[in-house]
Amino acid sequence: MQHPLPRTGPRPDPLRDRWAPAMRLALAEAELALPSGDVPVGAVVLDRDGTVVGRGHNEREAVGDPTAHAEVLAVREAARSVGEWRLSGCTLVVTLEPCTMCAGAIVLSRLDRVVYGAWDDKAGAAGSLWDVIRDRRLNHRPEVVPGVLAQDCAATLTAFFDTQRAGVPPTGPDHPTKAV
Ligand SMILES: [Zn+2]
Repeated sequence: MQHPLPRTGPRPDPLRDRWAPAMRLALAEAELALPSGDVPVGAVVLDRDGTVVGRGHNEREAVGDPTAHAEVLAVREAARSVGEWRLSGCTLVVTLEPCTMCAGAIVLSRLDRVVYGAWDDKAGAAGSLWDVIRDRRLNHRPEVVPGVLAQDCAATLTAFFDTQRAGVPPTGPDHPTKAV
Protein backbone atom coordinates (compact mmCIF):
# COMPACT_ATOMS: atom_id res chain seq x y z
CA MET A 1 0.00 0.00 0.00
CA GLN A 2 1.28 3.44 -0.90
CA HIS A 3 1.58 5.98 1.87
CA PRO A 4 1.14 9.63 1.04
CA LEU A 5 4.25 11.77 1.25
CA PRO A 6 4.66 13.45 4.63
CA ARG A 7 3.39 17.01 4.59
CA THR A 8 6.09 18.26 6.90
CA GLY A 9 9.82 17.69 7.27
CA PRO A 10 12.93 19.18 5.77
CA ARG A 11 12.70 20.14 2.13
CA PRO A 12 15.37 18.73 -0.18
CA ASP A 13 18.25 21.15 -0.65
CA PRO A 14 20.61 19.73 -3.29
CA LEU A 15 23.29 22.41 -2.71
CA ARG A 16 23.61 21.57 0.98
CA ASP A 17 22.34 17.99 1.32
CA ARG A 18 25.35 16.49 -0.48
CA TRP A 19 27.63 17.88 2.22
CA ALA A 20 25.59 16.66 5.19
CA PRO A 21 27.53 13.37 5.65
CA ALA A 22 30.85 15.24 5.73
CA MET A 23 29.38 17.78 8.15
CA ARG A 24 28.45 14.92 10.47
CA LEU A 25 32.12 13.91 10.46
CA ALA A 26 33.05 17.50 11.33
CA LEU A 27 30.49 17.49 14.16
CA ALA A 28 32.02 14.27 15.52
CA GLU A 29 35.43 15.96 15.36
CA ALA A 30 34.01 18.97 17.27
CA GLU A 31 33.06 16.69 20.18
CA LEU A 32 36.76 15.89 20.65
CA ALA A 33 37.34 19.50 21.74
CA LEU A 34 35.13 19.15 24.82
CA PRO A 35 37.44 17.27 27.23
CA SER A 36 39.97 20.12 27.19
CA GLY A 37 37.27 22.76 27.64
CA ASP A 38 37.75 24.01 24.10
CA VAL A 39 34.89 25.52 22.14
CA PRO A 40 33.55 22.57 20.10
CA VAL A 41 34.40 23.39 16.51
CA GLY A 42 35.41 20.60 14.14
CA ALA A 43 36.62 20.43 10.55
CA VAL A 44 37.48 17.87 7.89
CA VAL A 45 39.17 18.26 4.50
CA LEU A 46 37.95 16.07 1.64
CA ASP A 47 39.92 15.43 -1.51
CA ARG A 48 38.47 15.43 -5.03
CA ASP A 49 37.07 11.93 -4.49
CA GLY A 50 35.47 12.75 -1.15
CA THR A 51 38.11 10.94 0.91
CA VAL A 52 38.96 12.58 4.24
CA VAL A 53 42.59 13.75 4.06
CA GLY A 54 42.60 16.04 7.11
CA ARG A 55 40.78 16.46 10.40
CA GLY A 56 40.96 19.00 13.15
CA HIS A 57 39.18 20.32 16.20
CA ASN A 58 39.71 23.47 18.17
CA GLU A 59 42.71 22.92 20.48
CA ARG A 60 43.32 26.46 21.68
CA GLU A 61 43.02 25.52 25.35
CA ALA A 62 44.48 22.04 24.92
CA VAL A 63 47.79 23.26 23.55
CA GLY A 64 47.72 26.92 24.59
CA ASP A 65 47.96 28.13 21.01
CA PRO A 66 45.76 31.00 19.80
CA THR A 67 46.07 29.75 16.22
CA ALA A 68 45.03 26.15 16.94
CA HIS A 69 41.64 26.50 15.28
CA ALA A 70 39.96 23.44 13.75
CA GLU A 71 40.36 24.71 10.18
CA VAL A 72 44.09 25.45 10.49
CA LEU A 73 44.79 22.03 12.00
CA ALA A 74 42.70 20.23 9.36
CA VAL A 75 44.38 22.14 6.52
CA ARG A 76 47.84 21.35 7.90
CA GLU A 77 47.03 17.65 8.16
CA ALA A 78 45.57 17.66 4.65
CA ALA A 79 48.72 19.29 3.22
CA ARG A 80 50.84 16.65 4.95
CA SER A 81 48.75 13.80 3.55
CA VAL A 82 48.48 15.28 0.04
CA GLY A 83 52.20 16.01 0.06
CA GLU A 84 52.12 19.67 -0.89
CA TRP A 85 50.71 22.95 0.36
CA ARG A 86 48.30 23.41 -2.53
CA LEU A 87 44.95 21.82 -1.71
CA SER A 88 43.41 22.41 -5.14
CA GLY A 89 40.42 20.16 -5.66
CA CYS A 90 39.84 19.82 -1.93
CA THR A 91 36.89 20.96 0.19
CA LEU A 92 37.05 22.10 3.81
CA VAL A 93 33.94 21.28 5.86
CA VAL A 94 33.69 23.06 9.22
CA THR A 95 30.95 23.33 11.81
CA LEU A 96 31.28 27.11 12.34
CA GLU A 97 31.84 29.96 9.91
CA PRO A 98 35.62 30.60 9.68
CA CYS A 99 37.21 33.60 11.41
CA THR A 100 39.54 36.02 9.57
CA MET A 101 42.64 33.93 10.32
CA CYS A 102 41.08 30.73 9.05
CA ALA A 103 39.54 32.47 6.03
CA GLY A 104 43.06 33.65 5.17
CA ALA A 105 44.44 30.12 5.57
CA ILE A 106 41.66 28.76 3.35
CA VAL A 107 42.48 31.25 0.57
CA LEU A 108 46.24 30.60 0.87
CA SER A 109 45.80 26.83 0.69
CA ARG A 110 43.99 27.11 -2.68
CA LEU A 111 41.05 25.02 -1.48
CA ASP A 112 38.28 24.75 -4.05
CA ARG A 113 35.49 25.10 -1.57
CA VAL A 114 34.57 25.78 2.04
CA VAL A 115 31.38 24.37 3.51
CA TYR A 116 30.26 25.55 6.94
CA GLY A 117 27.44 24.93 9.36
CA ALA A 118 26.54 27.68 11.81
CA TRP A 119 26.92 31.35 11.01
CA ASP A 120 29.09 33.44 13.34
CA ASP A 121 27.53 36.89 13.42
CA LYS A 122 30.21 38.24 15.74
CA ALA A 123 33.39 37.09 13.99
CA GLY A 124 32.52 35.25 10.77
CA ALA A 125 34.71 36.03 7.76
CA ALA A 126 32.83 34.02 5.16
CA GLY A 127 29.75 36.17 4.71
CA SER A 128 28.62 37.37 8.14
CA LEU A 129 30.90 40.14 9.42
CA TRP A 130 33.41 40.02 6.56
CA ASP A 131 33.67 38.04 3.36
CA VAL A 132 37.41 37.48 3.10
CA ILE A 133 37.01 34.24 1.16
CA ARG A 134 35.09 35.79 -1.71
CA ASP A 135 36.85 39.17 -1.71
CA ARG A 136 37.16 40.13 -5.37
CA ARG A 137 40.56 41.71 -4.74
CA LEU A 138 42.06 38.27 -4.08
CA ASN A 139 43.15 36.11 -7.00
CA HIS A 140 41.82 32.89 -5.50
CA ARG A 141 38.22 32.72 -4.32
CA PRO A 142 36.95 29.35 -3.11
CA GLU A 143 33.27 28.52 -3.46
CA VAL A 144 31.36 28.99 -0.19
CA VAL A 145 28.44 26.77 0.88
CA PRO A 146 27.02 28.09 4.19
CA GLY A 147 24.37 26.67 6.49
CA VAL A 148 24.89 22.89 6.13
CA LEU A 149 23.23 21.24 9.17
CA ALA A 150 23.25 24.75 10.60
CA GLN A 151 20.87 23.93 13.45
CA ASP A 152 22.87 20.91 14.60
CA CYS A 153 26.10 22.89 14.45
CA ALA A 154 24.63 25.85 16.35
CA ALA A 155 23.09 23.52 18.96
CA THR A 156 26.53 22.01 19.71
CA LEU A 157 27.88 25.48 20.48
CA THR A 158 24.82 26.59 22.43
CA ALA A 159 25.00 23.49 24.64
CA PHE A 160 28.68 24.20 25.34
CA PHE A 161 28.11 27.82 26.33
CA ASP A 162 25.06 26.91 28.43
CA THR A 163 27.27 24.48 30.37
CA GLN A 164 29.89 27.18 30.84
CA ARG A 165 27.30 29.62 32.15
CA ALA A 166 26.00 26.97 34.53
CA GLY A 167 29.18 27.41 36.52
CA VAL A 168 31.45 24.64 35.35
CA PRO A 169 34.93 25.87 36.24
CA PRO A 170 37.01 27.14 33.33
CA THR A 171 39.88 24.95 32.25
CA GLY A 172 42.38 27.69 31.57
CA PRO A 173 43.24 31.30 32.29
CA ASP A 174 41.64 32.40 29.03
CA HIS A 175 38.55 30.25 28.99
CA PRO A 176 36.34 30.94 26.01
CA THR A 177 33.41 33.25 26.44
CA LYS A 178 32.36 33.31 22.83
CA ALA A 179 32.69 31.31 19.67
CA VAL A 180 36.10 31.26 18.04
ZN1 LIG B 1 39.48 30.42 12.97
